[in-house]
Amino acid sequence: SWGSFTDKATYDWSSEEEEPDGRARPIQVLVVKDDHTFELDEVALSRILLAEEVHNREVVAISVAGAFRKGKSFLMDFMLRYMYSQASEEWLGEAEEPLIGFSWRGGSERETTGIQIWSEVFLVDKPDGRKVAVLLMDTQGTFDSQSTLRDSATVFALSTMISSMQVYNISQNVQEDDLQHLQLFTEYGRLAMEETFLKPFQSMIFLVRDWSFPYEFGYGQEGGMKFLEKRLKISENQHEELQNVRKHIHSCFTNISCFLMPHPGLKVATNPNFDGRLKEIDREFINNLQILVPWLLSPKNLDVKEINGSNITCRGLLEYFKAYIKIYQG
Ligand code: GDP
Ligand code: MG
Repeated sequence: SWGSFTDKATYDWSSEEEEPDGRARPIQVLVVKDDHTFELDEVALSRILLAEEVHNREVVAISVAGAFRKGKSFLMDFMLRYMYSQASEEWLGEAEEPLIGFSWRGGSERETTGIQIWSEVFLVDKPDGRKVAVLLMDTQGTFDSQSTLRDSATVFALSTMISSMQVYNISQNVQEDDLQHLQLFTEYGRLAMEETFLKPFQSMIFLVRDWSFPYEFGYGQEGGMKFLEKRLKISENQHEELQNVRKHIHSCFTNISCFLMPHPGLKVATNPNFDGRLKEIDREFINNLQILVPWLLSPKNLDVKEINGSNITCRGLLEYFKAYIKIYQG
């Protein structure tokens, strides 16, 4: 059976400036500045994680990570629709309804390497009767130079450490450099978790956008798994470095999976006036969105964040966040 929403976590915002109309929105909690230092907005993060309704709840932290301009925010806005209307089969919305939430229309905002969190933490009843708090994170980086690669790796590592599910959003294929980035990210993460005997991270989902070989591996999760198995396979005649990347990835995560997403169509990809309405998105994309989003977010699939084998609450997550950031601040 499906869980249902009981009440939404609302909070009495003390600063009118920061939340002028009381509506939920993305909050930048971590910024990488031009001089490559990290800044954690502890006040903003505390406001979200220590809200009365959620601070003692076990937390499910879902992160979507990857480079800019690859459709992360677009996807996250659909994830928000699902979270806001979960009890309904009609979560996808009306054909002509513009998409809102995480800002995704290209060009208007400066691209900031860092982590944004949706200001509203969702309370969800799992089928086993537990009520959990669900946090949505948007993690982005630029991967265009050595210095920004390091920044992005750190941000990716941090978001992987504090999430229970990391969705690695990549374009078109899983390339060797996507895997190498991932190895770099997880290497950073392992540094911070040297004490543990358990696998340091929970779930990693490779989300491949604009997959264009459905005749080789079909869209969705099954095709994705077959594709990933092939991609992550270790063979004798591979270069040692390639073998190591693969071993490393397997050793880091408890669950690894993959989902192949079709191209959303030219209106989404190229029309500057496109506002996210379903009517202008390819049917094939929408069909797969209807599989992907519940697969990620349905109550039975929400895994509570664990660190060293213990379930973590929102309050606990805040403490870990602060501790992990100290490691990278050196
Ligand atoms: P983000 O920077 O990763 O958050 O990317 P955005 O969600 O802001 O999207 C960047 C641009 O890509 C927008 O113009 C979207 O309309 C478009 N877009 C969204 N999803 C996809 C997709 O799956 N494939 C392609 N080719 N474009 C997409
Ligand atoms: Mg974005």
